[in-house]
Amino acid sequence: MKHDYDVIVIGGGPAGSSFARIAAGNGMDVLVIDKRKEIGVPVRCGEGLGAREVLAQGIEVPKRAISTDIHGAKVIAPNGKEIVWKEKGLTTGWVLERKIFDKWLCELAIEKGAEVRTYTRALDLVKENGKIAGVKIAQWGKDAHDIHAPLVISAEGMEARIAKKAGFDTVHRLYDVDTCYQYEMKTYDHENLIELYFGNKIAPRGYVWIFPKSDKRANVGIGIGGNLVNGDKNGIPGADPKKLLDEFIANHPQLKDASTLDDFGGVISVGAPLDEFVKDNFMVIGTAAKQVDPIHGGGIALAMECGVLAADVVLKAKSKGYTKQSLMEYEKTWKETAGKKVAKRLLLRKVVEKFSDDDLDYIFNTITQNDLNEVMAGNFAKPVAKVVAGRPQLLKVLSALLPGGR
Ligand SMILES: Cc1cc2nc3c(=O)[nH]c(=O)nc-3n(C[C@H](O)[C@H](O)[C@H](O)COP(=O)(O)OP(=O)(O)OC[C@H]3O[C@@H](n4cnc5c(N)ncnc54)[C@H](O)[C@@H]3O)c2cc1C
Repeated sequence: MKHDYDVIVIGGGPAGSSFARIAAGNGMDVLVIDKRKEIGVPVRCGEGLGAREVLAQGIEVPKRAISTDIHGAKVIAPNGKEIVWKEKGLTTGWVLERKIFDKWLCELAIEKGAEVRTYTRALDLVKENGKIAGVKIAQWGKDAHDIHAPLVISAEGMEARIAKKAGFDTVHRLYDVDTCYQYEMKTYDHENLIELYFGNKIAPRGYVWIFPKSDKRANVGIGIGGNLVNGDKNGIPGADPKKLLDEFIANHPQLKDASTLDDFGGVISVGAPLDEFVKDNFMVIGTAAKQVDPIHGGGIALAMECGVLAADVVLKAKSKGYTKQSLMEYEKTWKETAGKKVAKRLLLRKVVEKFSDDDLDYIFNTITQNDLNEVMAGNFAKPVAKVVAGRPQLLKVLSALLPGGR
């Protein structure tokens, strides 16, 4: 079989570029295609990223890709009570300029030898003797043709159309997504903290975020449960994320007089990851595999991490051929590491969405920064005991977080 490349990566986002950097850096002939005219543009993201995960990869984000350094978070209850959460090493990070960040990640792959083609869309899979053998692409919207490789990586993000064609269940149920709206705004004074506002009236089954940027700008966004958007059969109208965000802004002392520089809507996966990530000659990575944190909808770090993991497995599988079996180590390792953390966050999301505003006010009055550290590390027992001691009626809901609970 003739091959044009060793591997074709569909998508030049954080997952695809991270995969390409490692694969090309280890001698593989890598092609990355992206349907966008410019890598990273348009931005559809809050642009928040924790520092820990990136530093663990041994790469240093250049200053030009960082809009603001973040020292921690301010978490705000429905009644306005604030918890400031600042834990060195745990809550430090950045609000990025993603159009620079994504391009920089892609450039790292190019410097290692990967070829990147923009405005190039994957239309379909190429099969030979029933096996995946490449991708049908169209560059600049024309001249559809086949390119061949023994391995295809779907790093397509939320759409994941080619992964669906390969047989993966990439369809999203409304319950498993957050519907989002975001403005970039100016003028906003900040304290290098991200701000997260909770409450069923503010953002049902979600939150409003203010992620500060340089030059007194801020990403001000909302994510709400996708299942709440259509209303219900009893005539309760659906929730509109843009309307809710506009109400929030109108009532916010600083934002009500701020201007908008950009606005967009989007959808992010907050459900369970795909059951499987690999088939013969095919792998799914990043948000295409629904590898997103179900609590906050963050997917950049997970996408970068799994891109590296998948590439490491591919390098080992190279001599054996890209069978499902030889690629399986990626799926297995992910499920045993990041997958365990994501599963706990999903459990937590399903518990948190049952709280009334009064419960949330009570919990915010009861827990401390240390409790937040424990919760985010997946150690629920102590914070649960503390909350249940004062509000025993929450035991039924919270017991799902305890060993053997449900
Ligand atoms: C409103 C909103 C706010 C968010 N805020 C944050 C945040 O603050 N922090 C955070 O960590 N995460 C956030 N996320 C999630 C984050 O943006 C994604 O999880 C992350 O970009 C995933 O990276 P990826 O490489 O897997 O996919 P993507 O970054 O989506 O990249 C996929 C690429 O594939 C390309 N592509 C798709 N189909 C094809 C095709 N057929 N042919 C060629 N190219 C194709 C696309 O053009 C795209 O460039 C947010 C998401 C939304 C919607």
